[in-house]
Amino acid sequence: MKFRLIVFLLVTLMVYSCRQPNSGQIEKEVASELEAIFPKGQQGPEELFTGKAFNYGLVSNDSVYTTLVGNVYFEPGARSNWHTHPAGQILIITDGIGYHQIEGQPREVIKKGDVIKCPPNVKHWHGASEDTGLQQLYIVPNTEKGIVEWMGPVTDEVFSGGV
Ligand code: MN
Repeated sequence: MKFRLIVFLLVTLMVYSCRQPNSGQIEKEVASELEAIFPKGQQGPEELFTGKAFNYGLVSNDSVYTTLVGNVYFEPGARSNWHTHPAGQILIITDGIGYHQIEGQPREVIKKGDVIKCPPNVKHWHGASEDTGLQQLYIVPNTEKGIVEWMGPVTDEVFSGGV
């Protein structure tokens, strides 16, 4: 009797453990839910962004600090147009996975914890990856030199790393 009970318990345990989602599935579920430190903010205009990107201002531009700070949340697949910053820009990635590309260079993968410096007047774009969104803080220093100059959209081919 005791032996049968033990076999029954073992079989029950095996069946139960087979029903648990595999670890890959759990990782994917976690990856799709990003940690938001700041409010989501306002959706960026579609003439400057492909897909949905939301901006939340943290430090407004003034004559004392001449620095603009804010947070952008890019939904999966969303990215900025090509653009330059006359005084450069620093990005601090607080969650998710995305891309950053300087014109003429390969697309770079960026992720939580990365700090990226975009040099002054260098044409570039940034955004989320195809499957995971991106939370990024931006810091634009020396705003007396200008903040951003917008250019055309990033094509699907460029976004996917083709160029
Ligand atoms: Mn930029």
